[in-house]
Amino acid sequence: MKVAFQTLGCRVNSYESEAMTEKFKKEGFEVVDFNDKADVYVINTCTVTNMGDKKSRQAINKAKKANPDSVVAVVGCYSQTSPDEVSNIDGVDVVLGTRNKGDIVYWANRAMAEKNQFVEVNDVLRNKQFEELEISEYQDRTRAFVKIQDGCNRFCTFCLIPFARGAVCSKDPKKVIEEVKILGENGFKEVILSGIHIASYGMDLEEEYELADLLEEVEKVEGIERIRIGSIDPTYFTKDVVERISKLKKLCPHYHLSLQSGCDKTLKRMNRRYTVEQYIDIVKNLREKIKDVSITTDLIVGFPGETDEDFETTLNFVKDIKLSKIHVFKYSPRKGTRAATFDDDVHGSKKEERSKAIIAADRKNEEDFADKYVGKTVKVLFEEKVKGKEGFYSGYTENYIKVMAESTEDISGLILDVDIKENHIIYLEGSLIKERI
Ligand code: SF4
Repeated sequence: MKVAFQTLGCRVNSYESEAMTEKFKKEGFEVVDFNDKADVYVINTCTVTNMGDKKSRQAINKAKKANPDSVVAVVGCYSQTSPDEVSNIDGVDVVLGTRNKGDIVYWANRAMAEKNQFVEVNDVLRNKQFEELEISEYQDRTRAFVKIQDGCNRFCTFCLIPFARGAVCSKDPKKVIEEVKILGENGFKEVILSGIHIASYGMDLEEEYELADLLEEVEKVEGIERIRIGSIDPTYFTKDVVERISKLKKLCPHYHLSLQSGCDKTLKRMNRRYTVEQYIDIVKNLREKIKDVSITTDLIVGFPGETDEDFETTLNFVKDIKLSKIHVFKYSPRKGTRAATFDDDVHGSKKEERSKAIIAADRKNEEDFADKYVGKTVKVLFEEKVKGKEGFYSGYTENYIKVMAESTEDISGLILDVDIKENHIIYLEGSLIKERI
């Protein structure tokens, strides 16, 4: 039997697809490319944007065309929020939500045997049960995502995720450590602790336990040399927390602190729970306490009611605070969210203009940030050969700057010192201090 996966969306989905892949392999399935003929196609969907839904539907059609006799299983955020819509798409045999992906093999087998459609989507808004999934291998051999948390209780007005992912629930810390240990034994050097709202990690556990406690435990795992954390709510970084994490040697100094707007009025309408001033204090404190820290962020332009003046405030903020990278999104309403009912939408051409202005300011900040490393030596975990650049390998510094260097031998999976010679903005180029294998 052959199974093929198509994964859309975030790192949590990638993790869950890996975990489902391991389950299929244990049952004797061969994993093939999504373009190949398979007996079971699993589409792990995303619903963050309208585009996510569209791509999910396209993947379903593609699977059924590739093999009309196959079982098509649709799981994840789109099927969780719109189970009726998904089950009515031609060719869908199994529909699961976001908290029962671990049952995928069972339902796929039943759909094959009984030639029936199964729709198993449960309410997740009150479900505080973390679904136990785990991985011991990863296709990318250098770093692995570990899902430590699911759900979000924040309900930002533009976001559908709390409806798709449900209430906050955390993986038992002992199980996280066991999983990280296995990954370390299997040769992984870097783990990325991920979740939907990792700042909430531990809030549902019986004992008092939070993300910083977990990071201190993961730090002790042998074999793991780098720890990263996924995108995180800025308010998690209280002075106390920064003091604690500044002592961790393996925690990479790169934090993705979602900002969304640099204007208090807009932040309030988004139901974000911080002010611009608080954000500035958090960034300042991180920069003071953590050497070489890189802070990146997400920002939405053209949120309903964002005036030219509000946008100017955000733009000036971006220019002043000089983050090392900003991902800009033009707001688009998401059905089912509060913001979709706001009637003061910003015109598309304004969104476009604003997006371009932020990208230009960000490019300058990015360039300045990377420039600081020219002439310096940095540690790079090399990941892969560079396509189209013969003899070059690429990897990332601890603070997540992409670096390329030439080598006569395969250096994937190694952490090596590199002398940085040139800043190409989207990556740095340098030479290995000493080639060692
Ligand atoms: S914090 Fe806000 S943007 Fe992030 S997942 Fe929760 S509701 Fe969505």
